[in-house]
Amino acid sequence: MDIRLTEGVKLILDRLYEQGYRADVVGGAVRDALIGRPSFDFDITTEATPDEVKSVFADCKIVDTGIKHGTVTLVLDGVGYEITTWRVDGDYHDSRHPDAVSFTRSLSEDLARRDFTVNAICYNERDGYTDIFGGVDDIRAKVIRAVGEPERRFREDALRIMRAVRFSSQLGFSIEEHTALAATKLRSLLLNVSDERIYVELKKLLSADGAHEVLSSYPEIILTVLPELDGLKLPDRELFISMDYKTRLLSLFLLNAKDARERFSSAMQRLKTDSAHRVYGESVLSHYKNADTGTRYGALKLLSSVGPEVALGVAALGVLVGEKTKLDLEIIEDAIASGIPYTLSELKVGGNDIAALGLRGPEIGKALLSLLDAVMSGECVNERDALLGLCQKDFH
Ligand code: ATP
Ligand code: MG
Repeated sequence: MDIRLTEGVKLILDRLYEQGYRADVVGGAVRDALIGRPSFDFDITTEATPDEVKSVFADCKIVDTGIKHGTVTLVLDGVGYEITTWRVDGDYHDSRHPDAVSFTRSLSEDLARRDFTVNAICYNERDGYTDIFGGVDDIRAKVIRAVGEPERRFREDALRIMRAVRFSSQLGFSIEEHTALAATKLRSLLLNVSDERIYVELKKLLSADGAHEVLSSYPEIILTVLPELDGLKLPDRELFISMDYKTRLLSLFLLNAKDARERFSSAMQRLKTDSAHRVYGESVLSHYKNADTGTRYGALKLLSSVGPEVALGVAALGVLVGEKTKLDLEIIEDAIASGIPYTLSELKVGGNDIAALGLRGPEIGKALLSLLDAVMSGECVNERDALLGLCQKDFH
């Protein structure tokens, strides 16, 4: 099977070839094409050094994005293409970064430094596939297998442990036995890897379709990167994969930590997630226990205090852990769709109207809240006269 290269990629490969340099598409794009999965970025690997690449494309915009690692980005028609020179990584001393990288004129050396066989296949239209490590067979067998000796590869760069479980979740592939054993055995090396890089992988893993299988097969690895959890009890699989990433993550804390909110909050701070995500999750967990989502009035009260996003999150989390049903979620959705106000700004009377009735200072706010409550409970309609009448009755 041939890979459909985009015009931009073809142009780059052709130009390098015309100047005497071999160049191929490599990694994710080749893997995904063989699987039949859409792929959006094409990484190009070439024997030309970055300076040689620059002189071949002297008439184009080219940026030194990762020049230390031999990567430049060529911009064609507004699209960026990463072109990386064949390289070998030097020794690793910290399970994170090679001490040095050096360029090589051997394609097989470049492929050998890659993490998994399925990621170590390259392709161009002249030479077809170059697959030295059996990546095509592993794609057929749906297996993630380290290139070379797994322990050595994980010691070099422990992030590969997270990449193995992440690819397993995204692709629905199993992890080959020796690779899996080495990953579990060396999991504590993940403590040397930056939290930001771990989080990128964890998020991809949890968002993908195979997340439930991976979490149940590799709990030790997950608990190493989420030490805030006391265990790894999981919700029902079908429900889990029907939920979004944020709800999946919250369910792990709800089911596996006594003070879920505190633990979630400190995990998210440690992993340096964006603060909007952290605040959202904290809010869902804070309101989770006391939220009455089984009645329209309860739903409106919740909407009133936290807004629609968090309210729906509370119900979805409840459904996922089996403490609420889909009906709770529907009641909130219906409450939102009903148009019944749950914020003061939607009320058909304002502070001035109440002041005109003779109320002053904090009494005004109290009166407005009590009117909103009356509308939410169905005691009063959201109409000016009815609201003013009720206010006069209650406060005079
Ligand atoms: P994705 O679809 O997530 O982008 P990808 O396979 O393209 O998957 P990238 O992180 O974009 O992954 O990396 C591109 C390629 O670089 C990989 O396919 C692999 O060959 C190599 N690679 C990336 N990270 C590592 C690593 N930590 N160790 C060894 N090789 C790596
Ligand atoms: Mg990629």
